[in-house]
Amino acid sequence: MNIQDITSFLESIAPASLQESYDNAGLLTGSANWECTGIITTLDATEAVVQEAIEKNCNLIVAHHPIIFGGLKKITGKNYVEKTIIAAIKNDIAIYAIHTNLDNILTGVNGKMAQLLGLLNQRVLQPKKGILKKLVTFVPAEQAIKVRDALFAAGAGQIGNYSECSFTVEGEGTFKGGEGTDPFVGTPGLRHMNTELRLEMIFPAWIENELLKALLATHPYEEVAYDIFLLENKYQQTGSGLIGELTEAISSTAFLQQLKNVFGLAVIRHTPLLDKAVKKIALCGGAGSFLIGAAIAAGADFYVTGDVKYHEFFDANDQLVIADIGHFESEQYTVNLLFDILREKFLNFAVLKTGVKTNPVHYFV
Ligand SMILES: [Zn+2]
Repeated sequence: MNIQDITSFLESIAPASLQESYDNAGLLTGSANWECTGIITTLDATEAVVQEAIEKNCNLIVAHHPIIFGGLKKITGKNYVEKTIIAAIKNDIAIYAIHTNLDNILTGVNGKMAQLLGLLNQRVLQPKKGILKKLVTFVPAEQAIKVRDALFAAGAGQIGNYSECSFTVEGEGTFKGGEGTDPFVGTPGLRHMNTELRLEMIFPAWIENELLKALLATHPYEEVAYDIFLLENKYQQTGSGLIGELTEAISSTAFLQQLKNVFGLAVIRHTPLLDKAVKKIALCGGAGSFLIGAAIAAGADFYVTGDVKYHEFFDANDQLVIADIGHFESEQYTVNLLFDILREKFLNFAVLKTGVKTNPVHYFV
């Protein structure tokens, strides 16, 4: 199995195109063509994790945070990034980062947090725009079922929890084949009018190539007429943060205690508790202060995230409670998430979780 087989599988779950513009997810060192000897999952690919990978004979590190993030101008070993890269390259270790693309899917970093907190009715807190497209094609009625089936199989027609969503309407299509054509119906050189169905369905942008392959493989015409539109709609399945509900309303202190237990916390930084029961929980693993407004707008009682700055705490405005549980702490189970995803797919392959605690933040309590 090549590194590519593993990264392609991961990207079928968290498409690379879902990463934010500032991000640098993907293969950072090594070659996609290398044969993989073993995989180690981690939140951060530090030098210690590279060392661990060497010792455990794993030549692929699957990390959440990209060790090369803001650009690299020198590789002289002056800081932890350069040291890590040098160690990885010297020892033929591939480092692959699955970062904001894993944040932006419902079953990613945030889904794992929500699962551990037992949240119901999980939805993306701030769905993404610019993801949804629409495919429209024109096909004779007799072939429409086959084409529609192929497009569904390629992943089109998903709206929320509904799959196989499409629309058709009947109309008249015309065409005239030029020299060298061999039309499915009609005669070259003569205008042909054919009853066709206009078949349309939505799809996420990252499946476009596969979808067109499926369309061209099943549509009977020599030249397939189709349109692709970028939609203004938000795609409910992808975006930042998550909101869900506890099975029953509990007190603020009971919820804080639950956070402490689930995430193994020594301390939680939070805004003043409100005199109301807690049921609706918004969350975002990592640095999530950019979603405080969205959490308030969604009517959350609590917003759980990391890396909240002093002034940002004021933004709670007594409308919800912001709980900063720490960047590492909020994302720590991403290591397990990646491990579980890979273990399930590659059953008889060496998939390991790092034993290195990469959190650079320590608490003196
Ligand atoms: Zn993070």
